This record gives sequence, structure tokens and C-alpha cells, in this order.
Amino acid sequence: MAVLADLSFGFRNAYLDYDRLTGQLQQWAEAYPQLCRVRSIAKTPEGRDVWLIAIGAEPDRVRPAVWVDGNLHAAELAGSSVALAIAEDALRIHLEPEAFDFSGPVMDRLRDVLFYIVPRISPDGAECVLRTGRPLRSVPRDRRAERGQPRWVPGDLDGDGRVMAMRVLDPGGELVEAHEFPGLLVERSLDDDGPFYKLYPEGLIENYDGKRVPSPFFLGDNPIDLNRNFPYDWAPSHHQAGAGPFAGSEPESRGVMEFASAHPEIFAWLDLHTFGGVLIRPLGNAPDSKMDPEDLAIFRQLEAWMSEQTGYPTVSGFDEFLYEPEKPLRGDLTEYAYHQRGALAYVVELWDLFKRLGMERPSKFVQFYERVTRSDIIKLAWWDRDENEGRCFPKWKPFEHPQLGSLELGGVDPRIGIWNPPLHELAMVCATQANVFLRVAAMVPRIRIAHVARHHMPGGITRVEVRITNDGYLGTYGIPSAKKLDFNEPLYAKAKTDGCELVDVGAAYQVLGHLDGWGHGLHTGQNLPAYPGTRGNTNSAWATYLVRGTGALELEIGSCRTGFVTTRVAL
Ligand SMILES: [Zn+2]
Repeated sequence: MAVLADLSFGFRNAYLDYDRLTGQLQQWAEAYPQLCRVRSIAKTPEGRDVWLIAIGAEPDRVRPAVWVDGNLHAAELAGSSVALAIAEDALRIHLEPEAFDFSGPVMDRLRDVLFYIVPRISPDGAECVLRTGRPLRSVPRDRRAERGQPRWVPGDLDGDGRVMAMRVLDPGGELVEAHEFPGLLVERSLDDDGPFYKLYPEGLIENYDGKRVPSPFFLGDNPIDLNRNFPYDWAPSHHQAGAGPFAGSEPESRGVMEFASAHPEIFAWLDLHTFGGVLIRPLGNAPDSKMDPEDLAIFRQLEAWMSEQTGYPTVSGFDEFLYEPEKPLRGDLTEYAYHQRGALAYVVELWDLFKRLGMERPSKFVQFYERVTRSDIIKLAWWDRDENEGRCFPKWKPFEHPQLGSLELGGVDPRIGIWNPPLHELAMVCATQANVFLRVAAMVPRIRIAHVARHHMPGGITRVEVRITNDGYLGTYGIPSAKKLDFNEPLYAKAKTDGCELVDVGAAYQVLGHLDGWGHGLHTGQNLPAYPGTRGNTNSAWATYLVRGTGALELEIGSCRTGFVTTRVAL
């Protein structure tokens, strides 16, 4: 049998294009049909598939599952590599278990978990970024009716196949070349004496009047941000830039929603982005004081693993990751996954560039992005030259622009080194993230039929008592706040008789309720034996039957979230 490493398309050391990413998934599915299913959850307007790979023993059997997605934003390619690394490790659990140094109990858990992995939510966007370097948020399309405003449309002007940046000499320019690094543009200060530059994307201005140059806007000609297009707390684009015409308007986001709606068994949800080096957890729309405290405690466990394995801090979306204070992002994917799908959902912004630059963490993490100083950028350029093959800051080349005249092209290519980690660091990012996520996957509930007791009674009647338990970390409801979701049904037991009969036919269907798990997160005082006590045995439930005659009782116990366990009780 092939060794997993031999089947790798190199995603731990490179950013794969669509064909190679597709090839990787198909390779696994062909090599390990007993462990993998690959399906398309959406077809993009450019005709690509949004692939989902399901991995686990008996991949078609519904049971507690976890979700990983990446590359919803076009340039955030490292998310695809990390998602593929998690997929490879999910296979490795079954194929090469000796490769892990997890404890026995963790490995035991992981053998039961089903992984749903979508390595690239926006294949059209990623392909465009990989091929051309074009600045692009999510998807390379613009179907708006209103097209009257002047706007930048990035495109390749000099025929080199790439879409880079343009700098234009302008006495009113906001940028100036750094003395320490020729070609590097930095923020102008009062003391600088020029020359000064304006910076635009390589491309043309639509509806140009020959005089006025519009300000480039990152959603200018690609107005959809898929991470604002999800239905939970969606708001239209005059409230939330990038929202799209309506929630789920795009095939990529709709495909995710359709799959998630049909698969209530998803208990954890990792949404991979770049960059920053941070875990962003709920709530996104309110401070921690409004959060379910039991959920928060579970996220503290995740925080501990993440900081131990990766050094990434964990922040609340609302407290530390709002671009504008007290203006929550609307329609984003993890808010949907947490509030609406009841998943332990979070974002990881891969690649801790700020730490590499030696920057001090500001009071709110999001301020890192604003507080990069001139000397930080110079440090970045030196690092790029010495350790990243100068990928981020190529040389400028003179060019005659059809609308703006003489200018220069090139200069900035943030794909590898800013948006994504350099190739020689990618393997480490993949390994540490997979290591954390596998622990998260090991938290899912697991229901079992723990005991079947038969008591013979007078009159040929047998009393059958079945004890069902959850031995998982999470309850059968998932995170505690998810109990309120209407699809989050309690466990129930269905009985069929074979030869014998139930004394009370109504007992054929019994609602058992939810079963707690044993986990409760961190910092809940459980370690302090001042007042000894835990939950009662709320991880168990019982179904009881009075059966007349001989034969067998066929039982099916579970819920749409946990899947079902079955047993045949001979009488
Ligand atoms: Zn992103």
C-alpha cells in the first residue's frame, strides 16, 4: 500500500493550483476508498468544483464530525495547505497511527471522528491570485447592475501575465521611497523631500473622465466578500461592505450552507484565513459578558492548546477584531457556524508576520494591521530579501499607461511573504495547526450502548433496560449554547420487535434527552477541592421495555447530530 508521503502533491511546501489540489484529493480517494469520499458542494461560475473530502472509517456513516475550510478569501492560500495537511493527518490516523505522539485516549477518539474538509472555498479566486497576483478579495466577478461610477479594474497591462502594482510620481503622493531600501514605498512624513508617489493596482480605470483618478477599493470590481455573504445576522451592503445582494447569493457560500444544513452532525468548525497569527473566537457581535459562560470555558481549552502549540494568542472577534469599534462584521462564516449550526467555530489567521517583525502586541489585536511603522516595513523588506527570495518587493519597471502616461509597474507582490507564509515555513504552519485541530476533533461526543439488562418477570414477560452513555468531551448537543437550536434534537430510541411484542406499544419510541459530556473547558474551578462535587451521571440515559414472548428487540438509538447506534437484544 502506498505511503501517504508518496501520494503528496507537495501542499506542505507549495501553494497548489486548482488542478493539483483536485489531483491530490482524487489521489487519496482512489488510494483509500475505505476512508475517503470526495464530492463537489458547488460549481463556480468559471466551472470549477468546490471540493469537499470526507475522511474517516466508514466515511458514509453519519456520526459526530468536524469541519475544516480554507481559502474563502482568494489570496489566503495557506488555508488550503493547512486544510490539506489536516486531511492527510486524518488519513494518517488510520494508515500510519505510529506517526503521532498523541496519547492512547486521543488516538482512540480520533479513530471514530468523521472529518469534512473543504480546502478551497473560492477556487476561482485562488486561481486568479496564483496565476496573476491580481488583488482580489473573494471571487473574480462583478455582476452588479450599477456600473456607472469610475473604478479601478485590475488587469495585466504589460503582457507579462501578472497583475502587480503601479506607482505614479505625484507631488501630492502619500508615499515616498525608503532611503534604506531602494524601491520600497513607505508612508511619507513631514521631513521627506520626495519624490512622492501614488500607488494603484496595475489596471485601467473604468468610466475614466481623463482627469479624476478614483481611490482603489479592495472590493471595487469584485464586490462580493464571501465572508459577509452568510445568513446569520446578514446585512445589506450599505451596512456591510461585501455582503452581496442577498445572503447565500454566491454558489460557493450557498454550497457550504446547503451541506451544513444537511449535516447537523458537525460539532467543530475551523475556518482558515491569513494573516496575523491569531485565533479569533466568538462572540463576533457582543462582548464576552454576553457569551454563554460554558461555551467560553470550552474556548479557553482551545486557547490553551493554540498558544502552547503555535504561540498564537486567542481573541474575541468583538473585543479585538472589529475593524471599526462596536461595528460587528455581518454575515461572516464562523458566526453562522457558531450561532446557527451550533459548532465550536473559530477562525485561525495563519502566519504571525507581526511577531516576525518584532512588533509589540497592541491593546486590540486588529490594531497590528494599522500600526505597522516605517521601520517595520523596512525590516520586512530586509527579511524578504534575505529569507524570502525577494518575492514581496520586486523591482519597478517603467511603463507607458494608456490613461495615466509614464509610470512604473511591479514593486509589490504580497502573495508569498505577506499574505501567506514563505514556502520554507509552510510545513511548520501545517504541522502545528493540524496538531491543535486533531485535539479539537477528539472532543466530539460519542454515544454507546453501555449495558443491556434483562429481568425475567412472571407471565413470560421480560423487562429490558438499556443504558446509553456519551463518553465524549462535548455533550450530545455540542457546545452548551447550541441546546436552543431547533434542529438540535434530543436522543431518542426506536424499537422494533422480531417474534416478541411490546406490552406498551408506545414504548417503541422513547425520547431520552441530551447527554452531557465530561468536558467543561478550563478555569471553571473544577480543580479546587474546596467543595467536592461534579455533575451527576448526566452522561447516561435509559430506555426500558416490557417484552412479551421470545424473539429479539431491534434498537436504534441516537439523534441527527450524534448518528445512531444499533443493537439486537435476543430474548
Ligand atoms: Zn480572510
